[in-house]
Amino acid sequence: MPGPHAARRERLRAALATSGAEAVLVTRLVNLRYLTGFSGSNGALLLTPEEVWLSTDGRYTEQAEAEAPDIERERSVSCGPSLVARAAAGGVRRLAYEAHEVTVEELGVLAVAGEGLELVALGHVVEELRTVKDDGEVELLRAACAVGDRALADLLPLVRPGLTERQVAGLLEGLMRDHGSEGLSFETIAATGAHSAIPHHTPTDAVVRAGDLLKLDFGAVVGGYHSDMTRTFLVATAPAAWQQEVYDVVRAAQQAGRDAAVSGVGTSSVDRAARSVIEAAGLGDRFVHGLGHGVGLEIHEAPMLGASAAGILRAGTPVTVEPGIYLPGRGGVRIEDTLVVRDGVPDLLTQSPRQLLVLG
Ligand code: ZN
Ligand code: ZN
Repeated sequence: MPGPHAARRERLRAALATSGAEAVLVTRLVNLRYLTGFSGSNGALLLTPEEVWLSTDGRYTEQAEAEAPDIERERSVSCGPSLVARAAAGGVRRLAYEAHEVTVEELGVLAVAGEGLELVALGHVVEELRTVKDDGEVELLRAACAVGDRALADLLPLVRPGLTERQVAGLLEGLMRDHGSEGLSFETIAATGAHSAIPHHTPTDAVVRAGDLLKLDFGAVVGGYHSDMTRTFLVATAPAAWQQEVYDVVRAAQQAGRDAAVSGVGTSSVDRAARSVIEAAGLGDRFVHGLGHGVGLEIHEAPMLGASAAGILRAGTPVTVEPGIYLPGRGGVRIEDTLVVRDGVPDLLTQSPRQLLVLG
């Protein structure tokens, strides 16, 4: 039985068979990792009906051998042009390449390297393959989400008035590393008070104060796979009526979105399920972004769950569900979970409590 990476390459070959190209050059590093396991910062893959070649430079020789032992490897500093030349020498006439990744300048170099060979755009074929995860990928995502859950549980007793947003973010990042995260999914968002109304706030030296809404959006990385979770808390006092009201609406919308995320439904209908709850509360214009996104080797990947998103959710696709309500100058609430779409009840990967907790 082929390993997961070989199985993915077979799916790419099958997709390629309908494109008119005889072979494909993969230069997008995250797609290279998906198809081979190789995670270095310089490399390219050539996939023909019979052959597969991985090119990387001398810094990564050992790593490539360890991560992609089943693939023919060559050493080059200019991986893409080297493999295009190899394809041309091997008789390939039409070669698909990742036009969404290659710069105009790089395309010129590829064209020179593959004289006589026609370069055609592949499209987002590999990204499309990546949307449905295999069991091994789901387990890495589950592990990454568990790291986030544990780090948050450790953080909550430490949060108190007087800490800055940067200190809170730093504590959380350290805890994720302690629990085994390879890095950060993205720059941690810690937003307190009025800053919580800014959907993607960058932490500042603003101080957490009693009565603030404190919004934390963060993620861990395990085996290259990213977790993503948002929770919003109240600091040191019982919630004001407006804070509790906004929180309850977001929580109900988030539950409706999670309930709607089953295989076979349109991605926009999941957004609609959550958005209609917020609209019914008269706050539709304060939910200023899409409901969620796919997550995997990248923190944001296909499919997008938005009001105008096209496409159908398929079983095995991890997505986030993250409605928010943002009241400028006052504060905002977002609740975000990562789940895997199934035929029935979704597989919820992030487990941290969703009720409004008072910290400090
Ligand atoms: Zn997030
Ligand atoms: Zn997200």
